[in-house]
Amino acid sequence: MSESSVVDGVAKDLFIGGKWVAASGGRSFAVHDPSTGQRLCEVADASPADGKAALDAAVAAQPGFAAMPPRERGEILRRAYEILLARNEELALLMTLEMGKPLAEARGEVAYAAEFFRWFAEEAVRIDGGYAVAPNGNGRFLITKQPVGPTLLITPWNFPMAMGGRKLGPAIAAGCTVVIKPAEQTPLSMLALAGVLAEAGLPDGVLNVVTTSDAGAVMEPLIRDGRARKLSFTGSTAVGRKLLEQCAEKVLRTSLELGGNAPFLVFDDADLDAAVDGAMQAKMRNIGEACTAANRFYVQRGVYDEFARRLTERMAAQKMGRGTEDGVVVGPLIDDDAVRKVRELVADAVDRGARVLTGGSEVDGPGHFYPATVLVDVPRDARMSDEEIFGPVAPISVFDTEDEAVAAANDTEYGLVSYLFTNDVKRALRVSERLEAGMIGLNQGIVSNPAAPFGGIKQSGLGREGGTVGIEEFLETKYIAVSL
Ligand code: NAP
Repeated sequence: MSESSVVDGVAKDLFIGGKWVAASGGRSFAVHDPSTGQRLCEVADASPADGKAALDAAVAAQPGFAAMPPRERGEILRRAYEILLARNEELALLMTLEMGKPLAEARGEVAYAAEFFRWFAEEAVRIDGGYAVAPNGNGRFLITKQPVGPTLLITPWNFPMAMGGRKLGPAIAAGCTVVIKPAEQTPLSMLALAGVLAEAGLPDGVLNVVTTSDAGAVMEPLIRDGRARKLSFTGSTAVGRKLLEQCAEKVLRTSLELGGNAPFLVFDDADLDAAVDGAMQAKMRNIGEACTAANRFYVQRGVYDEFARRLTERMAAQKMGRGTEDGVVVGPLIDDDAVRKVRELVADAVDRGARVLTGGSEVDGPGHFYPATVLVDVPRDARMSDEEIFGPVAPISVFDTEDEAVAAANDTEYGLVSYLFTNDVKRALRVSERLEAGMIGLNQGIVSNPAAPFGGIKQSGLGREGGTVGIEEFLETKYIAVSL
């Protein structure tokens, strides 16, 4: 399986109404390999008219799909799950080529995306309802759930397949048709996923994929059109805020999975080996380009030096290189802007008094690389206390008391995830309750799981994906008042 055969094997057109079609005017844009900067291929560049055609197809397919038996919808997802596992190797290579993450992580992401299909295949047949006696004893209430309707999905580049799987799984299970727009930098994984779902038997028009170099021009008219009934978005808080405003006009249901600024607390009583392992996972998964990435490490004074020493030793040993090479953990960042931003944030922290224990240097050669870096004594006024680093940089600060740690952790507009390492069960529960986040990693560095409700509070978003609540985001509750 060569790199070129994997790229050649993916359809590069728009997927509308069950057919692969060129963009109007035959326009296309380039996709690049971030480890070399080289062009991989061209994909169709949808216009607003193509976007409208995609929404037309989703609207036309909605009644038929809503009427499909839930078991059949579930079986389509189950088949897609099996195809993804069977093709894991080629899909992982495709993802590494367009996004840069190491192959081992890309394999993990294909399996993670597939798990959403398996989970929601099982949820499709568990959509519940109710029957109740009215309080006055005369009437009866019938409660049923129905698909929200045609749905717009927008996904980011950092998890190019899993973020699609996390939305498509529940949308399909619930009986919603979809127009999905992947990120411009990583459209290939989504195009491949569309091929898998078509092969699994998804009816024409249920899934429509528009790739475009002008997200705003294509998506805004669809949001304002009024026929789509829901928007589910994963991406930055800045774009999420703008989309929420657009959704207000036609009162679209919205699910927003936005940015994070995760604190990682290590108390004196923590198991330090577990804390360092957890720190490596929370920081280095996806080269630090994850909404769940630990962005700020707060370590209690008694273990501060030892934690920093051990983390530095581990970080300094991480191999940097192209994601296709054996043993690489630090792949390239997505583009030059990402490298520039990480460089700026590190320089700013150092200017304000932080010390570099490893990394922090420029990398020569092609590709968008930044080395694994540890900073200590990072002051509160460093920009990285407030901004997502989105790179392999671990900033560490000291604290003395539990109150101080909780206050520092919550001192952010974000509230996606917080990590907490302590062996004191009372402290674990007390601090977990006080941390302002939708998810807590308690003595573990990874929280994502298709069977658990993923999502944030504050400006990290609205709604939850995964778990038993994930499908609710795509369902409306209807109540029928029955007179006896
Ligand atoms: P982004 O710039 O917000 O882009 C996300 C998606 O929105 C892309 O498909 C993008 O298209 C599209 N988009 C941009 N402007 C738009 C507009 N005006 N109208 C409609 N769509 C628009 O974010 P990103 O840089 O790709 O992703 C990184 C961010 O995502 C980080 O903040 C990260 O924390 C967050 N994230 C959150 C979660 C979560 O579950 N909470 C998961 C992963 C990532 P183009 O690519 O074509 O511009």
